[in-house]
Amino acid sequence: MESVTQGASIIRSFIFKKDIDWSALTDGITFPVMYQAVFGSVDGRLMVRGEKKPVSIIFESKVYSATIQNNDFNKSYNESHPRDILQIRYKKDLKEALAAAFAESYRFFSEKRNLEKQTRESKRIKLPEDQREYLALYSTGKDDLFFMDAIYAEDLSAIAEMVSDQSEEAVEAELNFEKEDRTASIIEVTRTEKIRRLNRKISDNLKQLYGFRCQICGAIHDEPYGCNVAEAHHIRYFVQSLDNDASNQLIVCPNHHRIIHKTNAFWDPKKLVYTYPNGYSEGLLLNYHL
Ligand SMILES: [Zn+2]
Ligand SMILES: [Zn+2]
Repeated sequence: MESVTQGASIIRSFIFKKDIDWSALTDGITFPVMYQAVFGSVDGRLMVRGEKKPVSIIFESKVYSATIQNNDFNKSYNESHPRDILQIRYKKDLKEALAAAFAESYRFFSEKRNLEKQTRESKRIKLPEDQREYLALYSTGKDDLFFMDAIYAEDLSAIAEMVSDQSEEAVEAELNFEKEDRTASIIEVTRTEKIRRLNRKISDNLKQLYGFRCQICGAIHDEPYGCNVAEAHHIRYFVQSLDNDASNQLIVCPNHHRIIHKTNAFWDPKKLVYTYPNGYSEGLLLNYHL
């Protein structure tokens, strides 16, 4: 999950990626209230607890109406761990569209749920690792219009096949390749474009979060040239992990990016430190998302 904090500058292209589970197919999706600035504003102010608002969601070329509500988890609320969540609730037509689009996952969950006789456990059923599917939710710049992309298991296996004989650096360059932004459009996208767009949106959010600075050295190279060259690096190489979540990305300067790949530096996910083959190690100067 992306744990990017909100800020006016990153609102336009924001994205939330959700694992497909039973409730994502049949009821709605929930996300932490910290996304409120992006998904929960009404006439320029934030939603209050318990408030609902109608929204439109574009999914596979059709427009659906839904509601976003700020759920009040009052009872378990405490200052350090706010439990409020935002929830998008579908109506019948979008439920049906999702069940049809994710037909195999839908069948998988239905069967599992029947077997487990609706026990509490059945709520936590997850797709097997190699059958994972996702919904990506994009903001459009309009408070009440969102765009939903389905990332199917087939999309991921097609990508896996495509990248299997390529170098990580080539794939990362390809993923970040600048293309026309179609987020708010109703155009069907190909598998590779879907995944590229997902990746680019997440890395764009992160780059803006860090003001285009390198998380390792803090360097920024945009002035005086008037362009930024910050790059998104996949901590667990994308060609192996296919993981383009923010939790697997680091924003780095081109020098650090080159050095990490050239030395195949070792990343310690607990200490957040890179260690190079000669024994030298360095941590992160900037970190707001890992
Ligand atoms: Zn750097
Ligand atoms: Zn990289």
